[in-house]
Amino acid sequence: MALIVQKYGGSSVADTEAMKRVAQRIVDTHNAGHRVVVVVSAMGDTTDDLLDSAAALTDNPPEREMDILLSAGERISMALLAMAVNELGVEARAYTGAQAGIKTDSHFGAAQIVGMVPERVARAVKDGQVAIVAGFQGISKDDDVTTLGRGGSDTTAVALAAFLHADLCRIYTDVDGVYDRDPRLHPDAVKYGRISYDDMLLLARGGARVLHDRCVELARREHVVLEVCSAFSDAPGTIVG
Ligand code: ASP
Ligand code: MG
Repeated sequence: MALIVQKYGGSSVADTEAMKRVAQRIVDTHNAGHRVVVVVSAMGDTTDDLLDSAAALTDNPPEREMDILLSAGERISMALLAMAVNELGVEARAYTGAQAGIKTDSHFGAAQIVGMVPERVARAVKDGQVAIVAGFQGISKDDDVTTLGRGGSDTTAVALAAFLHADLCRIYTDVDGVYDRDPRLHPDAVKYGRISYDDMLLLARGGARVLHDRCVELARREHVVLEVCSAFSDAPGTIVG
């Protein structure tokens, strides 16, 4: 029995049909005897839509309010996904970043995780429930909601995996692994079966959009083994580690 952190990106939960497929995958993993913690991104283009709404109102949105606004995208996903998993007969509980004990500094829009107290997540998993955590957000020492920067849900997943000593952190996305070039643009791109943290960092910093570079740095530091795989197939992905 392994403890697996699964992270689903926005394209994997773009609509309620996609969310049902994700819920089935979570339930299958749970029913195979594993303990599952899920980190989820905002549905589809929700984050961009929220940014557009703010921009339609002001050129200078207050940073604190901007972060509360953007954190809402992931909260919608976590609640709906928990409902979808419950519907399949497995108990699931949704937690915001704050409820999951993700403590950050006060740098709105690009907060760094400074501590983790994921007691409620650990307790849910111990009780046989699936814990579903909103990615990309935390809470500052002043109790303000913060966000971790675009693409930050990967970092949430790795931080939880590190703290909970998960056996594996699987990042589900719309490509089935890490390629030497963006396979969405280059059909002849070559997929890696395994890639080191250092090589992955070079790719991430070079603009490969598959993983956030901060998440790779954290995984390297905390020795979290990552697997990047497709939410739409069962093909083996790329191991990073
Ligand atoms: N929803 C946020 C974004 O679009 C965070 C994430 O997806 O990881 O940047
Ligand atoms: Mg997103």
